[in-house]
Amino acid sequence: SSSSDSDKDGSTVHVVVRVRPLNPSEESRRDKTCAQFPGNGSILVSDNQAKVKTFSFHGVFEPGCTQEQVFENSGMKHLLDMALDGFACTAFAFGQTGSGKTYTMTGPVTPEDRKQNVTLREARCYGLIQFSFAYLMGFVAGRDDASYSIRASYLEIYNEQVQDLLNPAAYEGVQIRWSKSMGFYVENLFVREIENLEELMEVLEDGMRNRAVAEHNINEHSSRSHSVLTVYLDSEMLSEGMTLTKHGKVSFVDLAGSEKVKDTGSTGDTLLEATNINRSLLTLGNCISALSDPKKRSGHIPFRDSKLTKLLADGLGGSGVTLMIACVTPSSSNLSETINTLRYAKRAR
Ligand code: ADP
Ligand code: MG
Repeated sequence: SSSSDSDKDGSTVHVVVRVRPLNPSEESRRDKTCAQFPGNGSILVSDNQAKVKTFSFHGVFEPGCTQEQVFENSGMKHLLDMALDGFACTAFAFGQTGSGKTYTMTGPVTPEDRKQNVTLREARCYGLIQFSFAYLMGFVAGRDDASYSIRASYLEIYNEQVQDLLNPAAYEGVQIRWSKSMGFYVENLFVREIENLEELMEVLEDGMRNRAVAEHNINEHSSRSHSVLTVYLDSEMLSEGMTLTKHGKVSFVDLAGSEKVKDTGSTGDTLLEATNINRSLLTLGNCISALSDPKKRSGHIPFRDSKLTKLLADGLGGSGVTLMIACVTPSSSNLSETINTLRYAKRAR
């Protein structure tokens, strides 16, 4: 296969938008819908004064789309194929709090469901992560010419501190280091060996459970943190008498809410958090925007400006692919945040 892969326009960043349905409280307030879908990857948003803006992307998922349709048609499978073939790939969900990032990534099971031990696994109410796990493990099981060794890690970045979600006892957090041979890496990050699909699902469940604990301690924790679940796919195969080894990986990133944090009332720690969140989202936007421009791609990319971008530098800057899923609400009461999200996504496109 080729050494790198790109869209027709030469970019390795694939950008899609997902619009969730109006929720019950928006419906009972009789919120208007601000989004229309003229087709061809376009989304049209309008305000009360009927000012209209159109944005176009590689794909748009309308409110009625299922989780499976998003998995099948977002470019995710192609990204997984690349990761299986030895490339470092990244899938992001971003958007304001409440726009459907977590729903898209991990499905409709909420921390509240989890506390009551409800599991929707059987019902296949999966998010992109579970569908991807099943796809990866199915692929690996079907290969007899290559042997894969699979591992997984799960961390979150809260307030520019990295927490290991698979080892919550490492209470002080773990540090990001840099070495010539490895680039940026997380020191002492717990990486679990995976034998089967069930074990991969457990990584997700365990990490989410630990996240829910943190949520309990700090109000709005999950909307202010970035979570990164990474599956490492190391493979060996014999090719013309030589052993060919590949080191692919795929990171699933559920980003902190992108909403503007209001100046009023944000003081001390809260203000520091807001600054840190915005810094990593801004830096991520700057990095992806530079990377998606073939002319700027070989220039300076400001990975060092935030923990999140340091961690993802090899995936973003390498020859793998990046998928950005911009999540928005259709409610006209969120119009300005929706436009912000679409603009941010547009920079990457
Ligand atoms: P975020 O992670 O961006 O803060 P969530 O994923 O938690 O947002 O979604 C907010 C609420 O909207 C949740 O109750 C979730 O179940 C619901 N929701 C989000 N996306 C969808 C969707 N596509 N279909 C149905 N409900 C959704
Ligand atoms: Mg969320």
